[in-house]
Amino acid sequence: MTETLEFQAEARQLLQLMVHSIYSNKDIFLRELISNASDALDKRRLVALAEDGASPEDLHIEIAADTEARTLTVRDNGIGMSRDEVVSLIGTIAKSGTAELLRRLKDSKDKDGKEKESAELIGQFGVGFYSTFMVADKVTLVTRRVGEDSGTRWESAGEGTYTIESVADAPQGTAVTVHLRPKDEEDALFDYADERKIREIVKRYSDFISFPIRLAAAEGEPATLNSMKALWARPRSEVKDEEYTEFYRHISHDWTDPLETIQMRAEGTFEYEALLFIPSRAPHDLFQRDGRRGIQLYVKRVFIMDDSRELMPDHLRFVKGVVDAADLSLNISREILQQDRHIQLIRRRLAKKVLSTVKDLMTSDPEKYRTFWREFGRAVKEGLLGDPGDQKAILDIASFASTAGDEPTTLTAYVERMKEGQDEIYFMTGETRVQVENSPHLEAFKAKGYEVLLLTDPVDEIWVDAVPEYEGKKLQSIARGSVDLDSEPASEEKTGEFAPLLTWLGETLTDEVKEVRLSTRLTTSPACLVSDADDITPTLEKMYRAMGQ
Ligand code: ADP
Ligand code: MG
Repeated sequence: MTETLEFQAEARQLLQLMVHSIYSNKDIFLRELISNASDALDKRRLVALAEDGASPEDLHIEIAADTEARTLTVRDNGIGMSRDEVVSLIGTIAKSGTAELLRRLKDSKDKDGKEKESAELIGQFGVGFYSTFMVADKVTLVTRRVGEDSGTRWESAGEGTYTIESVADAPQGTAVTVHLRPKDEEDALFDYADERKIREIVKRYSDFISFPIRLAAAEGEPATLNSMKALWARPRSEVKDEEYTEFYRHISHDWTDPLETIQMRAEGTFEYEALLFIPSRAPHDLFQRDGRRGIQLYVKRVFIMDDSRELMPDHLRFVKGVVDAADLSLNISREILQQDRHIQLIRRRLAKKVLSTVKDLMTSDPEKYRTFWREFGRAVKEGLLGDPGDQKAILDIASFASTAGDEPTTLTAYVERMKEGQDEIYFMTGETRVQVENSPHLEAFKAKGYEVLLLTDPVDEIWVDAVPEYEGKKLQSIARGSVDLDSEPASEEKTGEFAPLLTWLGETLTDEVKEVRLSTRLTTSPACLVSDADDITPTLEKMYRAMGQ
């Protein structure tokens, strides 16, 4: 029995976009299919390892092209999908970023000349399986899940509905058949059924896939198209930049180029290899608790798990990559991982290496550094709340807005610019730069030429209390306590002159303020509110109030 079902609304919108896509690099649909097949093979192997401790034989991906029928089939003998899985995984989009993607696509589509941008957005979010509809007028998927007797056949023209039916004789695994659009429809459309084209795409995008990708031949043995070499195990000098980029795209599901690639190897009692990437932009879910994390764990070239939070501290959660540890068990669980001392050691080393790489960028490639800090600074600063050992390394690579200019400044540069006799680093926190800049607190500092850091990220309110100093210089809020600007204290004469006013103000405002003082810190405003040295800042007070505390 064949059922016709509707795509979920968001999936339908996304499909529309694919069907009418102007994204010029349509080749990537094949990469996406291979990537999914590879993930499915990883999962099948994991299940088998857990059940009987051995990897199944002959896990592979097969590509078959039919130039007459103009079809291309990518087949794997991986985990497969049950009927329900097909409906939920292919018929809907569970990814949290999709609504965001669609909103931004709509925004950019409303304006002329923004098509390129929308194509880039598609790239940034990655649309996986649906990218087949850039080249196909129909897609058929036949799958049978490991351990199940019957399979499922799914078919769609990408126009809002799909059909689904049971099939008795489906081989275990998944086969996706792409029915290519007629050739003359679009000149730029290459012939994806052409063997040379397939070889070229596989070599370019999927060479490192750890399972053989075979091209079915009409006669004779199928040819294996990829080298299957684990990229992290190869010396850096032998690997082309494009290979790293493609690998990054495969593991991160991000289509942009990484900002920086980091390779590490540790030998000795606990051996591991790591290949890490700093993305060039922040993922949309960077500040969502359930956001996808980036490190994959391998044990001796065998994929073990995605999303290993244990391998990277939270404030570096945007780092993507692979860690291949030689001495772990293939059956290691997340629970064990959390307690493993070696894993904690690896995490510290990786974190250190990421921060030192960024520090090097500050001098070797300031533009890249600025991109890094703009995209990830807010997350990195969360690390100032944790291990004091990390504070120095984080402060070394941090930049802050400042009264000294439009460009953010490092603390080192601030300290170099400090005035004679200044021994504290001045900062002010607030919600926006404009708000902070118009604050009366700033007046005297501006007038006397003292530089003040303008901290406007929510996390700034919190870490400033956790960080006492930088290079021996105390961090001092200009909105708290009395700040000594080495100016004359208000003279006795002046105080005497204003005594009646101060007393009157003090009595009138007795419930609102602790004390009324004559101040030297203002130049044009008549009065300002100052907190005690150990009081919380106004913005923090607001935050707490908003949280109902
Ligand atoms: P992503 O790979 O980023 O999750 P896709 O759109 O490429 O997104 O695929 C959606 C989901 O469909 C996958 O997460 C997977 O669960 C399932 N899927 C796709 N292709 C296969 C396959 N060949 N074998 C098993 N499951 C698959
Ligand atoms: Mg995919």
